[in-house]
Amino acid sequence: MSERLLTVHKIGGGALRAPEDFERVAEVLRQSPGSNVIVVSALHGVTDELLRAARRATDGGRPAALEALRMLQDRHTTWAQRLLQPPGLTQFLRFYDRLHRSAQSILSSMARLRETPPAAMDRLLSLGELSSSYMLTLFLRQQGFVAAWADARRLIQTDDQHGRAQPLFPETRLRTREVLTALLQEGTVPVVPGFIGRSASGRTTTLGRGGSDLTATLIAVILKASRVILWTDVAAIMSADPRLVPTAFTIPAVPYEEAVLLAKLGVKRFHPEMLEFVYRRGIPVIIRSLKDLQAPGTTIHMDARLPDGPHVIAHLPHVTLVRLEFSLPLRRPLLRVLRALYRAFRPLAVMAQQWPPTITLLVSGTHAPESLGQKPSRLGAARVHVANASLLMIVGQNLRSSLPIDDLVPRPARVLHEWATDVAVPVLVPTERLTDLARAIHDRCFGGQMQASGSKTRTKP
Ligand code: ASP
Ligand code: MG
Repeated sequence: MSERLLTVHKIGGGALRAPEDFERVAEVLRQSPGSNVIVVSALHGVTDELLRAARRATDGGRPAALEALRMLQDRHTTWAQRLLQPPGLTQFLRFYDRLHRSAQSILSSMARLRETPPAAMDRLLSLGELSSSYMLTLFLRQQGFVAAWADARRLIQTDDQHGRAQPLFPETRLRTREVLTALLQEGTVPVVPGFIGRSASGRTTTLGRGGSDLTATLIAVILKASRVILWTDVAAIMSADPRLVPTAFTIPAVPYEEAVLLAKLGVKRFHPEMLEFVYRRGIPVIIRSLKDLQAPGTTIHMDARLPDGPHVIAHLPHVTLVRLEFSLPLRRPLLRVLRALYRAFRPLAVMAQQWPPTITLLVSGTHAPESLGQKPSRLGAARVHVANASLLMIVGQNLRSSLPIDDLVPRPARVLHEWATDVAVPVLVPTERLTDLARAIHDRCFGGQMQASGSKTRTKP
């Protein structure tokens, strides 16, 4: 057992929809023994709003962009008035005012230039995390916690790829240790804005959408934390999306590899690199809901073992299956066509066969392949079949050897055997049948064990 318990809590923007949600964060801290670090995202939707404002500015809509900014100001002010008392309130409003003015001037110059220089964009977006974290710090202090705002730009040093900056590890480790260890030693809870960092040239950078996950796991690795808890608005990883399948149940523990696959399938939105950091150090990541502090959530860790067979029915509501048929002699080598298709569509899956010469692609979304269907000759294809559908993905362990997959899949759903592996079996379904087929497959996979989800999970001692 480790001698000290250190938890990094990441509060996701999805969980910050109303001022009361900050009260839940205080409750989380009250219930969390040992030392704690908090990493916080922007309030729900703020990053999207800022992106929209920038777009409006470049479309020539300076007034509309500034109006969007004013609405964000209203929202932050309302939250602060609801949560903070005078000394803290004034402090926050002064802090926000500076961010607001700087955002105003960034948007104005974007409107003038009709472009969004990436460095300016990052500075604009940083308003979201800077303000939420500053407000949360003041609120926690008011609640009696010893909390300190720890500006991530002093901790996370990155390269200068604005919009998707990569943290530079040695520098970040040095700074993070220096600043956070000192705070933790004196019993202070550091509150860190997620998503942002600073380049060597001193400019604000952002780590890519969902980047607060990365901030949290990076800090956890550097401080050798005992665990990371991602607080979201939906508890846990479930056996299916409960909006689609009402009988879906929580999976208490998931191995890293499977969690990465589920993230790629969009079951949980993680920053793609988040798990890589913690994986190597064996730090567990727990997903919990800020709405239900009693629910234990899902733990992602190395030693999680799930039984053979299906675990999760993931769904991608709109996909397109494209089949290109070529006649001989080929006008262009298949490999070149394949490369062009790959660049254009970033398909989920591709298959090429020499005889009869055919390329099949599975693409997410419904738009791009239509344009392809109109111009098959450009690629040298004789015929193109395009089918819009939805996809269900059965995710599990030893899927092909442990069960007769076709028996789990009622018509007209169709197993795409050519792309099936032992851990993921894609099933194509007509979009209008997505819900009932998802329920039917979920039922056949898990019927009878819905309540027994706890006993389905074995964890190595
Ligand atoms: N606020 C940023 C975003 O919406 C970062 C994050 O929430 O993790 O992508
Ligand atoms: Mg997020």
